[in-house]
Amino acid sequence: MAGKLRTDVQIIDAHTHLETTQPEAVDAMLEKEASLGVAAMNLLMLSLPSSGYVSTNPEGFYAKWRYPDKVYLFAALDYTPLGADVDLRLAYSLPEQVRRFWAMGCDGMKMLTGKPNYRKESGLALDSIVFEPCFACLEALEFPLVWHVGDPEEFWDAELVPQWAKDSGWAYDSTFPSKEAIYAECHHVLERHPKLKVIFAHFHFLSDDLPRAAALLDRFPNVCLDLTPGSEMYRNFTKRPDETREFFLKYQGRLVFGSDFMSRGEPSPIVLVRQFLETEGRFTHPNLERPVEGIGLPLDSLKRIYAGNYQRIASPKPRPLDESLVLAELDRMAVLQDQLKAPRNTARFFATLIDGGIPADWERESILDGLML
Ligand SMILES: [Zn+2]
Repeated sequence: MAGKLRTDVQIIDAHTHLETTQPEAVDAMLEKEASLGVAAMNLLMLSLPSSGYVSTNPEGFYAKWRYPDKVYLFAALDYTPLGADVDLRLAYSLPEQVRRFWAMGCDGMKMLTGKPNYRKESGLALDSIVFEPCFACLEALEFPLVWHVGDPEEFWDAELVPQWAKDSGWAYDSTFPSKEAIYAECHHVLERHPKLKVIFAHFHFLSDDLPRAAALLDRFPNVCLDLTPGSEMYRNFTKRPDETREFFLKYQGRLVFGSDFMSRGEPSPIVLVRQFLETEGRFTHPNLERPVEGIGLPLDSLKRIYAGNYQRIASPKPRPLDESLVLAELDRMAVLQDQLKAPRNTARFFATLIDGGIPADWERESILDGLML
């Protein structure tokens, strides 16, 4: 860790991902996060409203079960009821899923519906009637949502979009919805559900327009922004370091630390975000083309951004899992994954580990070989 970073403040990383189904991945992630000063992490699960795939919830349940004091879990919806070729008797409606995740002891939900390529692929507006009961349920339960809405502005510009984004299918021509159209759908949801607790991932892609970010936060008091790079964010902040520092001081109660740390991600963006928040002056980081100007926030502000705000939105400690409800959910998902002919039945695999019912004659490696690879 860079020598100048503080050691006297608790840090929760509110935006991380498990990218592999290897059960040890979470051990390595927590170890790496701890070496960078992070005490607990929020795993954001993935599912999409268009593919036949269910979600990464099984590995998330396992990680939280394995580290109940260190892992928060924001579950992903199972979209198979929207049209995959599965037995709908196994399906729960979207709001029923929200209630069930809450009862299971999950800490919130993650949605990726506002990422432009998924918005195009699914054909579902963010304020569609399909999602409406789900938002109503999240609002009623005060169950927080991490929501990815938008993308960096240059992804809509054929001249400026970076090659790595092109390679990922994130170069948006006129067949994709515009950034403004996606914002309009999203903010319509916030108008309908003013008590919805939302953390917008990646600063809601408003880092180049801090007055607009401020107006959004003023208008919707239950909205927060996470600081997960988008390297464009730190480039934009550096264009106007004084305005940025002022914004961070004024809205210190609405900003949440996150890194997009992944089980296989190197080099870590944690140091980048920490150095930006904690130190003054310019610094370089391997993930950035140009130096970034640190804003050197005081300890009280750091405490809120690093942990206090997230703990207020989610909970002071990870909620306890209800193991029997989780196992029932994994059983349901295991059958769905069979019906979808998933190459790896992760639900059955992690149910076996959580249940502790691994047959004596099974070698751990052979379980991995048989189910995971
Ligand atoms: Zn992410």
